[in-house]
Amino acid sequence: MTPAQPPATPERKFERSLVEEILEASPDGILVVDDQGMITCHNQRLFEVLGIPPGSISGGEDGDLAGLDDQHLLAQALWRFREPEAFLERVESLYADPDLEDHSELEYRDGRTLERHSKALWGEGRRYVGRVWFFRDITARKRAEHALEQLARHDPLTGAANRRHFFERAAEELARARRHGVALSLVMLDLDHFKRINDHWGHAAGDRVLQAFAAGVRSLLRREDLFGRIGGEEFVVLLPATDPEGALQLAERLRQHTEGLEFAENGERVSVTTSAGVATLEAGDASLDALLQRADEALYAAKRAGRNRSFCQA
Ligand code: GH3
Ligand code: MG
Ligand code: MG
Repeated sequence: MTPAQPPATPERKFERSLVEEILEASPDGILVVDDQGMITCHNQRLFEVLGIPPGSISGGEDGDLAGLDDQHLLAQALWRFREPEAFLERVESLYADPDLEDHSELEYRDGRTLERHSKALWGEGRRYVGRVWFFRDITARKRAEHALEQLARHDPLTGAANRRHFFERAAEELARARRHGVALSLVMLDLDHFKRINDHWGHAAGDRVLQAFAAGVRSLLRREDLFGRIGGEEFVVLLPATDPEGALQLAERLRQHTEGLEFAENGERVSVTTSAGVATLEAGDASLDALLQRADEALYAAKRAGRNRSFCQA
């Protein structure tokens, strides 16, 4: 039985239409549920944010859900979340404990990110009267944040991880390799006589060569490999779960691929080669520096031996 509504005085009517206007003006999807789990009110934006067609729950075209059990809405929304079980569990715990507030980010299956806020509503004498839910589409903000993060972590010319990001990630990989007792190898690459390319064809041509080189390297790597630019024409590839033979094979493939690149500048053929130094983590290595140093020594040996070759640590 629904409780008797107080007579609708002009003031109350005004308040109600004001509340409706505020609800509809909100950029958030808003849902208000009473202490019995029945929907008190909501706005149209709720359907948009949750991606639910308005008529699909109530049967009515405008999709007014007031008076319906919110389970109907939940059933429609649930499967659209990436982790429906976690979503449901959290909703249940929030309904079970009115003192709980919620501020969380949720991944939607359609690729969007929603932010959910929820708070209990209290009547006179701190009587629990229900809960309000806000759903906000924060996809644009998340994408912008992600783009900024990518910019801060990668070299704009080649897209390789910059020094700082490379060393951060490499430290994590080192810890992981130690924890799981698996191999970790590193290939250090330095383009040969790169200064001549700049001197002969200009800096912009040099930049194009660097870009093509980096794209070539990336095309030969696995997802888990970490490619970084640690100097002007010096690059590193960190190879998780890769032994010395595997690392040397990859270094050779990178070297051959680079040798095969062809560029034309002012009608002239430009080519480039790279030298590579390979090292693998050893039990006695105190830090990543030891690994880098051995790879650097191998690279230096490759340069001395005539360039355009891959050498493994002694
Ligand atoms: P080596 O075979 O001994 O490595 O000779 P190298 O000429 O490659 O070595 P060196 O270190 O003398 O020169 C590296 C050159 O790379 C000098 C520098 O101007 C150029 N360089 C560094 N960063 C960039 C860049 O972002 N763009 C361009 N175009 N050139 C760069
Ligand atoms: Mg060089
Ligand atoms: Mg160099």
